[in-house]
Amino acid sequence: MSKIRAEYIWMDGHIPTQKLRSKTKVFNGPVNNLADLPDWGFDGSSTMQAVGNDSDCMLKPVYYIPDPIRGGDDVLVICEVMNADGTVHTSNTRAHLRAVAEKHASEEAWFGIEQEYTLFQGRSPLGWPEGGYPAPQGPFYCGVGADEVFGRDIVEEHLDLCIEAGIEISGINAEVMPGQWEYQIGPIGPLESADQMWLSRWILYRISEDYGVSATLHPKPVKGDWNGAGAHTNFSTKAMREEGGMKVIEDACEKLSKKHHEHIAVYGAHNEERLTGLHETCSIKEFRYGISDRGASVRIPMQTAKDGFGYLEDRRPSANMDPYEVCAILIETTCD
Ligand code: ADP
Ligand code: MN
Ligand code: MN
Ligand code: MN
Repeated sequence: MSKIRAEYIWMDGHIPTQKLRSKTKVFNGPVNNLADLPDWGFDGSSTMQAVGNDSDCMLKPVYYIPDPIRGGDDVLVICEVMNADGTVHTSNTRAHLRAVAEKHASEEAWFGIEQEYTLFQGRSPLGWPEGGYPAPQGPFYCGVGADEVFGRDIVEEHLDLCIEAGIEISGINAEVMPGQWEYQIGPIGPLESADQMWLSRWILYRISEDYGVSATLHPKPVKGDWNGAGAHTNFSTKAMREEGGMKVIEDACEKLSKKHHEHIAVYGAHNEERLTGLHETCSIKEFRYGISDRGASVRIPMQTAKDGFGYLEDRRPSANMDPYEVCAILIETTCD
């Protein structure tokens, strides 16, 4: 037996966008399954999850991966926040996805989430001249060269760490606005994709510390003629992935069209600054879907249309969205 370090990670009560918090627990390892991770507590009055005179909240480990930063037998642990009496805390959005995923397990939903983010150094995006602007957008998307991409060392390290931790990361690319990047996770099941998304975000914030850089998920980090940051959510059920799936995808789009506002309500704060109808988005005020249409709310990829089955891409979620909420409502709207 030797001491291990387990980083307990949870979402706080910050409004309108919950933030990540974590602290380290040291105990005798190794961890072979969830039951080896003890419940723990924290001061909810410091995280907007409780009032001072009744401040204890409970951390219940629900998912863990190897800690690729500390290495060895150390682990990163996703926790659900519970009240002292063991009931679900109001800030705990995972509990609802857990129920929805279980109810619809037979649909075999898969999610592939594209996480866009922006690296900042001080008040400016990484690589931008102090207090000024770089050349207009155009050459930066998937660019190469020190004059076009900024922060590749961080991005590559993040990719390596995610792979080492067993996260289903499926790609990275430089984005349209300089200093902005994307990675994709999936396709995998609802709880796994959402848990891995939160863990990959934590790893990104954590390793950016070492570079004196901060990653932000704000949907419109720079006002004006600069692309915002989204979290396109690619979604399919077993029926969509099989022969005749196109009809199931179109039915799903019709159902989505009737719940546009309910979806927008959980697709991330400040998303109205991003969904303007410009910069490869559809206006937040309308819902449209189309084949290969990057100006639509929901895009059906060209390959899906060609094959007659596949998946749909919901382009509305913003970079700062909560994947527990987004995955849950997509399943509820299209499968209920
Ligand atoms: P683009 O930038 O062209 O919109 P990306 O390559 O960045 O596309 O992302 C596509 C995403 O679609 C990936 O995250 C991938 O995991 C996901 N994906 C692929 N097939 C499926 C599927 N059948 N169901 C759900 N997601 C899928
Ligand atoms: Mn992409
Ligand atoms: Mn993108
Ligand atoms: Mn996309």
